[in-house]
Amino acid sequence: MAKFEYAPAPESRAIVDLQPSYGLFIGGEFVPGQGGAGFKTVSPATEEVLAEVTDATAADVDAAVAAARAAYEQVWGRMPGGDRGKYLFRIARILQERAREFAVLESLDNGKPIRESRDVDVPLAAAHFFYHAGWADKLQYASLGPDPRPHGVVGQVIPWNFPLLMLAWKIAPALATGNTVVLKPAETTPLTALLFAQVCQQADLPPGVVNIVTGAGATGQAIVDHPGVDKLAFTGSTAVGKMIARSIAGTRKHATLELGGKAANIVFDDAPIDQAVEGIVNGIFFNQGHVCCAGSRLLVQESVAEEVEKRLKRRLATLRVGDPLDKNTDVGAINSRAQLERITALTAAGEAEGAQRWDTGCELPAKGFWFRPTVFTGVSQTHRIAQEEIFGPVLSVLTFRTPQEAVAKANNTPYGLSAGVWTEKGSRILWMADQLRAGVVWANTFNKFDPTSPFGGYKESGYGREGGRHGLAAYVTTGESQ
Ligand code: NAP
Ligand code: MG
Repeated sequence: MAKFEYAPAPESRAIVDLQPSYGLFIGGEFVPGQGGAGFKTVSPATEEVLAEVTDATAADVDAAVAAARAAYEQVWGRMPGGDRGKYLFRIARILQERAREFAVLESLDNGKPIRESRDVDVPLAAAHFFYHAGWADKLQYASLGPDPRPHGVVGQVIPWNFPLLMLAWKIAPALATGNTVVLKPAETTPLTALLFAQVCQQADLPPGVVNIVTGAGATGQAIVDHPGVDKLAFTGSTAVGKMIARSIAGTRKHATLELGGKAANIVFDDAPIDQAVEGIVNGIFFNQGHVCCAGSRLLVQESVAEEVEKRLKRRLATLRVGDPLDKNTDVGAINSRAQLERITALTAAGEAEGAQRWDTGCELPAKGFWFRPTVFTGVSQTHRIAQEEIFGPVLSVLTFRTPQEAVAKANNTPYGLSAGVWTEKGSRILWMADQLRAGVVWANTFNKFDPTSPFGGYKESGYGREGGRHGLAAYVTTGESQ
């Protein structure tokens, strides 16, 4: 099919002021790490080195926890909620004012299309601060229980797929409820967290309320193990989540774990097919499929499977894969070489186990980490590509005949983060939502996020919720549990 050729429409990166190297943000200042080691963060689209960041040691984490403790005891934990709210409103407004800078930097460091960082990641991050700013002076009316109080110092560890947005999901509710934080961004995407540290300075946030320590898994582990941390909030893989749960078992630490997923996107024969196709594309090719709640398993009713598959492939052939900073780009770069290797290995397993592989055949840039939008048909429930999280632009298609069969197949995974249902019938949507073991169920849409709506998993997708009143509850203790 003929494809329109677009002239390149690159967003300028001139707005981003990158420093050659960054220290750690502790006690309101950028300070050198005590271990003296650093690592480079690259643009996954070009493999260009963007900056060198500090590899925080256990001693650095200790300093960050001490700064957070002092800020909690002397300032933040005592501040009236209305005053905390003013800081959060200020941060939200600065994020909006500097939105373009954040969007360009996020796309550079992560590889996601500018269209998504500009229209999704950054506006939603600001929205999380606005939303939680509003709660700061109303916590006693949020039905959290009698006399909600902060935990104290919160340790937060986040992944690379939505770096600024995951930071906002973590920091906004923690601060609104009167906690102080030590946050570690992912090793491959530290730069927007460091720019956020500058926003904290610009907002005159009291020193030590937010501390950012960069590093790899060992830095995360040092946060998890630190005895001065009262609560942990982790988003990442189920494997690391289980390790964290084991490390804190028997301690007094509270924890929320937001882990992996293998969502079913279920299309019934009465669904408007073109709309469903858009939802399937959004479900698995948004953010290169690096989405915990991605609709990575398409369950389509047998009577329309052929038609859906035909229209889906036609639509996928129009996706533009390439330069994340080009405003026409639909699918950007894979975040890291390691992630590209994982996707390559799992898709090879899909073929070896007998599923039929198809991809768009589009051209890929010579440098950087790239993977073509890929669809597997003839997938059976036992295939690894139907069970394991691929976390890439790869869709596994399975079929079903009855609603009961759809539910059984959808629930047949260790995960339970999200699901999608496409049908004309409202009663069927309600029945399905009741049967599906998933924290979020979207109906005739997919990947819709809102700070007012709780998000989180069943089963091995973790425990605790983020967003809404449920998300606030994780950051306070009430009544006798204090
Ligand atoms: P990951 O390997 O678990 O890493 C997540 C974070 O934990 C990173 O900052 C990582 O550091 C750090 N970490 C690694 N080992 C650690 C340890 N032993 N102790 C403490 N921290 C440690 O996950 P990922 O591959 O980056 O992210 C993808 C996963 O996140 C997927 O499974 C996805 O489904 C999940 N996710 C879930 C949600 C949700 O809300 N449920 C949202 C987004 C993503 P490094 O920087 O060294 O990696
Ligand atoms: Mg990077």
